[in-house]
Amino acid sequence: MNGLRRAGAGCILVFAALLAGSEEHGPGTAGATPADCQRAKFRVVVDVGHTVGVPGAMSARGVPEYTFNLRLGEEIRQALLAAGFDKAVLLVVAQPPPLGLVERARRANNGAADIFLSIHHDSVPDYLLETWEYNGQQNHFSDRFQGYAIFVSNDNADRAGSRKFASLLGRELQTRGLHYTPHYTLPLMKGRRRELVDAEAGVYRFDQLVVLRDTRMAAVLLEAGSIINRQEELELAGPDRRSQVSAAITAAVENFCALRSRQRTNGTVERLSRPSAPVHPVGAILPALAR
Ligand SMILES: [Zn+2]
Repeated sequence: MNGLRRAGAGCILVFAALLAGSEEHGPGTAGATPADCQRAKFRVVVDVGHTVGVPGAMSARGVPEYTFNLRLGEEIRQALLAAGFDKAVLLVVAQPPPLGLVERARRANNGAADIFLSIHHDSVPDYLLETWEYNGQQNHFSDRFQGYAIFVSNDNADRAGSRKFASLLGRELQTRGLHYTPHYTLPLMKGRRRELVDAEAGVYRFDQLVVLRDTRMAAVLLEAGSIINRQEELELAGPDRRSQVSAAITAAVENFCALRSRQRTNGTVERLSRPSAPVHPVGAILPALAR
């Protein structure tokens, strides 16, 4: 997870303790085929995590997370466009948290997105950082963990859809030889431990994330890998890894789009897992936000 860095710019931290909850599974993909998906009408929002001014984690070689997020986000959008998802958009927000997070969710909701996918790159909590010298500069690193991680919120209005898309995405990433990091389940993560809700696909539950909680469509946050890990940073900086991730996302979107089309045809779309989507006044989220 992207820890609070030396500059104090955190990714997904400083939240309340893990909430226990029951596991839910969305509907299966059985019966849905790619032909069921109306790609040109399907709206995917690719959210570039963090901002220029508050760029998130710092990599082992001193590159801000935002740089990785933007580069990968642009490539994902291009892959979606090439696959016929003409309404795929890149969401870049200048306003820092917490208002910027509210803005991201608002723009996805106003745009009637079918999928909201937030792109991030991972780090570790400060107490796990080690020091090394790179290019004559002191930098921090941690080679303990590597791999992607996917997060969903049980408070999202489309909980079942979020779970389903997250699981589809995890499986597509693994099909391409990528692996998720299990370290969010470890005691050393302390208050940042997360419940692993899909142990095959690498999907964790993180209810309080504003961009997942306040969006009203299937919403997933992807940590594409760890940029604080010196080897994985090199991989994440290269075109092959971006290409793998973009292809996995495109395949997962295709599958989810087909599934949703089939469900709509059959009248079996599972929507709200609770009575209504919440409205969170900004003041209520301020204490909970660090990203
Ligand atoms: Zn981040």
